[in-house]
Amino acid sequence: MPNRTSGSTPRIGVLALQGDVREHLRALRAVGADPHPIRRTGELADLDAVVLPGGESTTIYKLAVAFGLFEPLREAIAAGLPAYGSCAGMIMLADRILDAAEGQRGFGGIDMTVRRNAFGRQVDSFEAEVDLAGLDGPVHGVFIRAPWVEQVGEAVTVLGRVGSGPAVGRIVAVRQGNLLATAFHPELTGDLRVHARFVDLVRARQR
Ligand code: GLN
Repeated sequence: MPNRTSGSTPRIGVLALQGDVREHLRALRAVGADPHPIRRTGELADLDAVVLPGGESTTIYKLAVAFGLFEPLREAIAAGLPAYGSCAGMIMLADRILDAAEGQRGFGGIDMTVRRNAFGRQVDSFEAEVDLAGLDGPVHGVFIRAPWVEQVGEAVTVLGRVGSGPAVGRIVAVRQGNLLATAFHPELTGDLRVHARFVDLVRARQR
C-alpha cells in the first residue's frame, strides 16, 4: 500500500467495524492528525497509519473478514503500515493469542503473546497508573476486560507495566517498530499523550 510521503497531518484510518471508534477519531483529531473511519477496502488507500480500537476482538475479527478487510489490513501492517491498537486492538496486533475464541485470528505484527481477559472475572474492569517510557508522568490506565502481554520477542520494547495492585508488573504497553499497543484505553480518559506519541511515530516515518 502506498504511503503518502509529505505533510505533517498524517491521514490515519480508524478501523470502524465495532468498538470505541469515535473516541479514537476525536483523540487523533485533537493531536493534529486527519482521521478517517475505515469500513471498506477502498478506504485503505493512501493511509499513513491505522488505529485498531478497543471493543471485542472476536467481533472485530469476524467483521473484518466479512467486510473483506482482514487480508488487506494484515498485509499492509506486515508491509510496514504504522498501527496503534488499544485493548482489543492490542490483541489484533499480537502474533500469538491465549484464550482466543475458536478460529479467532489477529492481524499480528508484534512478536508477543497476549492473554485475553487476563485480569480475571473478578476485576473485569479497573483503573491503575501506568508509567509509560518516554512520557512525562504516569498515564491513568482504564482497563476493560483487558489483555496483558505474557511474553515478548527480542524486537519488542516494553513501554509500560501496571504500577500497582494485584496485577502489578504486568506488561500493558509495547512497541515494535511502527507498531504500538496498549492494553488500556487512553482514548477514554482525555489524556492525549499516547495518541500524540503515535502520531509523532507516524510523522517520523514519513520523513
Ligand atoms: N476482552 C476484549 C477482547 O477480547 C477486549 C476488551 C476491550 O477492548 N475493552 O477483545
